[in-house]
Amino acid sequence: MMETQPPQPRSETLPTPSREDRRVFVAEDDPVSRRVVAALLQKWGYHVEAAADGAAAWRELQALDAPRLVLLDWMMPGLEGVEICRRIRADATRPYAYIVLITALSQKQNLLTALDAGADDYLVKPFDGAELRARLHVGRRILAAQDELIAAREALRSQAAHDPLTGLWNHGETLKILEQEVARAARSAEPLAVFMVDLDHFKLINDRHGHLAGDAILRDVARRLTAGVRPYDAVGRYGGEEFLIVAPGIDPEGALEIASRVRELVAGRPVDCDRTRIAVTASLGVAVSSPGRPPEPMLLVRAADSALYRAKEGGRNRVELCLPPELLSDAVREPDPAPL
Ligand code: GH3
Ligand code: MG
Ligand code: MG
Ligand code: MG
Repeated sequence: MMETQPPQPRSETLPTPSREDRRVFVAEDDPVSRRVVAALLQKWGYHVEAAADGAAAWRELQALDAPRLVLLDWMMPGLEGVEICRRIRADATRPYAYIVLITALSQKQNLLTALDAGADDYLVKPFDGAELRARLHVGRRILAAQDELIAAREALRSQAAHDPLTGLWNHGETLKILEQEVARAARSAEPLAVFMVDLDHFKLINDRHGHLAGDAILRDVARRLTAGVRPYDAVGRYGGEEFLIVAPGIDPEGALEIASRVRELVAGRPVDCDRTRIAVTASLGVAVSSPGRPPEPMLLVRAADSALYRAKEGGRNRVELCLPPELLSDAVREPDPAPL
């Protein structure tokens, strides 16, 4: 029986052995122990960063690029290892660190305290070098597995939010972004512009050149739209050959400028498809809210849609604008007009 393939190429998410996974942080106040441990670690191929007291260790471990394998002596002046451990764990935004606490005390109660503080492992002095080495191996394995899980989760999240053909935000995600921007516009007293971009006579293009050429055009248009807006504007594939652009802080004049640029970017140069070059145009409907008073997200979409309808009626390859008060009128509240 054929198995269905997992959605993501796993090779991208596998951690590669790198200098990064061989970096170890050692916090130890006793200079002799520190030197002995550092020498052992270096011999095994680790890159050692060391601190001689608890305060210095905590300072260095707060850096975003601090090593994620951490050996902490329990008893240190300034700050005890177990407290550093608690502080590291209290910050859930950091990448996971694998922490081994080292102490001369061997009572069971200390072991429980260390684990309770978030330590992954515990070594009692004087410890055997081979044991330290083996435990660091475990730490690296766990960090690698953790990274792999996070990468897989991120890949799934990204997949759920993007359109596979064009790589743009998909329909659902585009509407989520619109909702967020409407909320932000209401707080910020800024206008919000929404562009509905629809390719002209795309059915004819498909009929004439085939669906694959149509797909290639959609991908190319997606790139052109992205190139035509600012990095913080969102470009989504709203439907088959319809794209929605959400542009915060853009007034009607700016919106017209962007829309004209986008229209020109699509129409200005034919798309290279295999051996043919296919001319394509787009019509744009643009809705811009009053500063600080954005309407419901779907009302903005409908207003852009009704402006798009006018652009189609007016001959295509053109831009039409819908502004308040028309934007808030009943004509716009009607259900979406049937496609031309
Ligand atoms: P108009 O200028 O009025 O917008 O005409 P149109 O032909 O673009 O509009 P219509 O809604 O009649 O047709 C849209 C076409 O877009 C039909 C559909 O096959 C095509 N389309 C939708 N999604 C895809 C896709 O993913 N790939 C390809 N190749 N074509 C698509
Ligand atoms: Mg000590
Ligand atoms: Mg169309
Ligand atoms: Mg359409």
